[in-house]
Amino acid sequence: MSLDATLRKDTDAVIPGGLWGHQNVTRYGMGDYTPQFFSRAKGGRVWDVDGKEYIDFMAGYGPIVLGPNDPDVEAAAQAQRETGVVFNGPSPILVEVSKYVVDLIPHADWVLFSKNGTDATTQCVTIARSATKKRKVLMAKGAYHGAVPWCSPSLVGVTAEDRAHIVLYDFNDHTSLLAAAKPHLSDLACVLVSAFKHDLGRTHEMPAAAFLQAARKLCDDTGAALICDEVRAGMRIHMQGTWEVVEGHGVRPDLAAWSKAVANGYPLAFVTGNNKFRKGAANIYATGSFWTESASLAAGLATMKKLVRIDGPRRMHELGTKLRDGINEQARKWGVPIEQSGPPQMPVILFPDDKFGKWERGHVFVKEAMKRGVYMHPTHTMFVNVCLTDKDIEDALKVTDAALEVVAKQFGYRSSL
Ligand code: PMP
Repeated sequence: MSLDATLRKDTDAVIPGGLWGHQNVTRYGMGDYTPQFFSRAKGGRVWDVDGKEYIDFMAGYGPIVLGPNDPDVEAAAQAQRETGVVFNGPSPILVEVSKYVVDLIPHADWVLFSKNGTDATTQCVTIARSATKKRKVLMAKGAYHGAVPWCSPSLVGVTAEDRAHIVLYDFNDHTSLLAAAKPHLSDLACVLVSAFKHDLGRTHEMPAAAFLQAARKLCDDTGAALICDEVRAGMRIHMQGTWEVVEGHGVRPDLAAWSKAVANGYPLAFVTGNNKFRKGAANIYATGSFWTESASLAAGLATMKKLVRIDGPRRMHELGTKLRDGINEQARKWGVPIEQSGPPQMPVILFPDDKFGKWERGHVFVKEAMKRGVYMHPTHTMFVNVCLTDKDIEDALKVTDAALEVVAKQFGYRSSL
């Protein structure tokens, strides 16, 4: 029995359901071909517990951006660890990193640190309600903002009351946004918008300028907060916010939630906000036993500074484009219809002939890639990191070529060549 299989069996006995959440590999039908446990990572590579090596396009579902054990980040975290990490109040690093974030992010007049993306999205909503004294939260159908009752994708253990003030609209459809808002104009606390549409198994989409403008106007007209959920995309597309790359709209959010990539794997999240919402933020009760833990704050500061210095988003864009162009050419060669969407730094590869929820071609493609040492995901946003090399992409492309050949043969596609 492989070590992975033994660990899974042992896990089943002591953790309900085997493993929580999206990292449970059985959840998307990947359980039979994907390792659950990993032993180490270096550069753009990860090793599973049975010693198999993969070129990694998932990066821990987003937190790793510079590469595992980045020397600058580790030195900063270690220096902080040597002084102690949790005190009766914060270490001065809190002020240093707060000033850095406020200087970096154009809409930010203040920042509030926590640990997980859900902490940050939940705080955004609480701050919006605190500032506006209103209740309704507009969010896009199918968007993911965290795993607590107000926003969890599962309704298990969630009451109707938990969702009583959630109102849904369609992402990028300003008619639907305004129609959803119409019955609630006098009770609108916030409009929550993902940095870009990155729903599981769906075509990824950048927000349209007209949509962002409509959301901004709705908030300006009603006093509601425009919230951008940058948890997944933040610091990968543009250091100052994903919407900065959408041309011709001039829209900035009032509040934004950040996490994942901001500290290269250390647990850190934050909310940024403008002065209109400063008092609302000051009035909420926000705290956590680990929220001032200083090694993660130091790691965050070092990560953000390095991403700015090396222009991380540009490098990830280059690598992602090389991967995308190569795969598109291979798909044409094998006659396999594919759809690659999302910014090149955060791709998703879907097969339009797959039925939603079944992902047959997607699973064969990813399974064949996994077998040959490339870690991909059939439905979730993937992550292209600064630490990948051009050679990693070239090696990965050899594998995707072979994986697409298997898809072509298995599903009867004919090469156009
Ligand atoms: N928002 C988005 C867009 C996310 O992708 C995630 C995490 N996948 C969250 C919020 C929640 O973050 P966390 O899991 O750190 O609580």
